[in-house]
Amino acid sequence: MTEYDVAIIGSGPGGYVAAIRAAQLGKTVAIIEKYSTLGGTCLNVGCIPSKALLDSSEHFHNANKSFAEHGIVINEPSINLEQMISRKQKVVDQTCDGVAFLMKKNKIVVYEGLGSFVDSHTINVAKKDGDEKIKATNIIIATGSKPTELPFAKFDKKRIISSTEALKLKEVPDHLIVIGGGVIGLELGSVYARLGAKVSVVEYMDRIIPTMDGTMSKELTKVLKKLGVKFYLSHKVSDVSAKGKTVTVKATDKKGAEVSLDGDYCLVAVGRRPYTDGLGLENAGIKVDDRGRVEVNENLQTNHAHIYAIGDVVKGAMLAHKASEEGTLVAELIAGQKPHINYNLIPGVVYTWPEVASVGKTEEQLKEAGVEYKAGSFPFKALGRARASMDLEGLVKILADKNTDEILGMHMIGPRAADLIAEGVVAMEYRASAEDVSRMSHAHPTFAEAIKEAALDATEGRALHM
Ligand code: FAD
Ligand code: NAD
Repeated sequence: MTEYDVAIIGSGPGGYVAAIRAAQLGKTVAIIEKYSTLGGTCLNVGCIPSKALLDSSEHFHNANKSFAEHGIVINEPSINLEQMISRKQKVVDQTCDGVAFLMKKNKIVVYEGLGSFVDSHTINVAKKDGDEKIKATNIIIATGSKPTELPFAKFDKKRIISSTEALKLKEVPDHLIVIGGGVIGLELGSVYARLGAKVSVVEYMDRIIPTMDGTMSKELTKVLKKLGVKFYLSHKVSDVSAKGKTVTVKATDKKGAEVSLDGDYCLVAVGRRPYTDGLGLENAGIKVDDRGRVEVNENLQTNHAHIYAIGDVVKGAMLAHKASEEGTLVAELIAGQKPHINYNLIPGVVYTWPEVASVGKTEEQLKEAGVEYKAGSFPFKALGRARASMDLEGLVKILADKNTDEILGMHMIGPRAADLIAEGVVAMEYRASAEDVSRMSHAHPTFAEAIKEAALDATEGRALHM
């Protein structure tokens, strides 16, 4: 039986990054993946393909809506969805191949097959050509998550679909009904809205992206309504049924009034559940919590000190970069180092256009915690850069401690917010004050100037260009 220093089950951004870091630190490493391609949810059916379709659909939207204003005259653009999906798949394939290359480069042994615990040091890999057992001194569970199913809306994968099917539809829906106004619902909803579908979003809470700062929800709602998306907020879905090409979604509002929506596709995007099916956790006596997540301590160790768990399968934000940070942390712990993760500074992004991005505390969280804070904001429409590119919607909002001026949260909706939020992460990692950021030179003209202006507004209530 081959023995390794570290065996990792699952090759998503948690598992494959842990593998690379452990190999860099001189460990012998095996990674086990049940699918034939590496990269997990993120690369195969998550972050990468969704961003490819978001970019393609945004190009189409701009061709229709803003080319003429830019002085570009084209014939009426039309969609070749097959080509759009096939380009997306090429991007996915290249990215997954990149991970396979990195495994080879770092001398990581890849096993294709379902991994399951035989005991706390032995894993069985059910490969196409039979079972193989391996042993490891340390094991990392990085098995990720799967879409949550509603009991009355089982995925038939044809009309009642999850994000995985929504990434490879063969036609643009006439009417896409989205259950869940969270990240997946809004990203994929906006893809099809831009491509011409009628899109209705049914959300249980009274606002979309309910875990983000309230100002972001409000602004994004406005933007998406302009795109034609219809919202049914504070609606509880009670039934979903598919007959032929029609899906019917029934929901009740706060007052108990029932709405019934007919569409041709229903995307259920109400969250994801940790995935441990077939992993044989019971054979190693590994504990899970009441939500099915593998229980871990602050060092991401399970109830066995040499078995760790990371990423979507444990508590915390279900984000690729959070999984990767945890993979790095565990590999370094195994190598005897003392790394740390500041979970408060894991940024969150929604890749609509404009994008929404956030780090640190929301205004709602500060209020609830009774923290005395001040807020500064600045709209993108007041920036020359935003006028040049016609990206006028959105704003940057900075929340700072009222007494010390330390930045406690940065939230933005606007062009390239996904990239701009890195400034907030850096500032907060070094515990910068709003004044620190307001005194740093920001190149002109850039979208980043909105951050400096919002910091000025938070510091002294004086933005320069407002
Ligand atoms: P996963 O990526 O889920 O990988 C787990 C892997 O383990 C899978 O390949 C699975 O096949 C394998 N596996 C499971 N059980 C076994 C077993 N027993 N044996 C062998 N292999 C096994 N996050 C972002 O940060 N940014 C985004 O833009 C973003 N966009 C997303 C868009 C969509 C549509 C979706 C669905 C998700 C998106 N996410 C995004 C979330 C992101 O994909 C996840 O947070 C991330 O993939 C979690 O990484 P992971 O390594 O924990 O697990
Ligand atoms: P989510 O948690 O972001 O949103 C789910 C939404 O569904 C919430 O607004 C919730 O209130 C609502 N909801 C729950 N039950 C409902 C019901 N019965 N009826 C109506 N609404 C209901 O989950 P998601 O959008 O499915 O995404 C899953 C995970 O994937 C998220 O944790 C997210 O972090 C990750 N993801 C991240 C990105 C990104 O980083 N850009 C993109 C896609 C997915």
